Amino acid sequence: MENDFRLRMTFWGVRGSSPTPQIDHLNYGGNTCCIEVRLPNNEVFIFDAGTGVRNLGDSLLEEFANQKLDLKLFLTHFHWDHIQGIPFFQPLYQAENRVVFHSVAFPEGQHRRSGAKSGLEETLKIQMAHPYFPISLESLAAKKEFREIDPKPLKFGKLTITPFPLNHPGPTYGYRIESDGAVVVYATDLEHGHAKLDKVLRDFSQDADLLIYDSQFTPEDYEKHKGWGHSTWFEACQAAGDAKVKQLALFHHFPSYDDARFYEIVQLARGEFENTIGAQEGWSLTL
Ligand SMILES: [Zn+2]
Ligand SMILES: [Zn+2]
Repeated sequence: MENDFRLRMTFWGVRGSSPTPQIDHLNYGGNTCCIEVRLPNNEVFIFDAGTGVRNLGDSLLEEFANQKLDLKLFLTHFHWDHIQGIPFFQPLYQAENRVVFHSVAFPEGQHRRSGAKSGLEETLKIQMAHPYFPISLESLAAKKEFREIDPKPLKFGKLTITPFPLNHPGPTYGYRIESDGAVVVYATDLEHGHAKLDKVLRDFSQDADLLIYDSQFTPEDYEKHKGWGHSTWFEACQAAGDAKVKQLALFHHFPSYDDARFYEIVQLARGEFENTIGAQEGWSLTL
């Protein structure tokens, strides 16, 4: 039976840089970046595989027990907080499942030490190579595919996923995710102040129902971290206003900010852009 929504987005990991299991961080959440997008027919699309993807994997296995999973995973880039959950993603351990990894395209010939067919496959293999992890990616039973993608729209039935470049150390994609008129924009790991890419972000976020934006730092703390590839709650509000989005989610929370500090930040942001939330692990938006 079809679900009664066009698209449902769920946060499984909202923290930037490093997991924060401390008790005073758990209201907003301690797992690193992972969001799920679900279509009415229960097709699942995953964006980033930080530690949050472990819980998503376990939840999918429970929900779809004895059914094959066919999952599409889109990585923004390869910093730890976006891939660290992959070795613990249980659907990869079952032969009946298929996982298709998508990422930015690697320059031809780069990262080819293990006989992998693509830079994407190579990069994920290295993550799980000895001595970093005891089980290799190739030994995991699920069928795995690796697709390097250009910043062009990809169609999956009614769903269109359009990657666009972000200003971050190393190639990084944001994603505009659109189905039947419902639009979520996932833009994490970006630094404002790059005129061309600031405009790209606004163009791709236009009129979105939800903009998920890297607001790692307060404007004051940003001054000490210029060039790190992250933005602020203030810039998030500017982008949300310029792009006329309906709702803004502050995302990629700085590990040093506890719940009380982040609560204050959300209140400040609401003064600039009223319909702002602090992304919270477990929160879902149904459109
Ligand atoms: Zn990150
Ligand atoms: Zn990053």
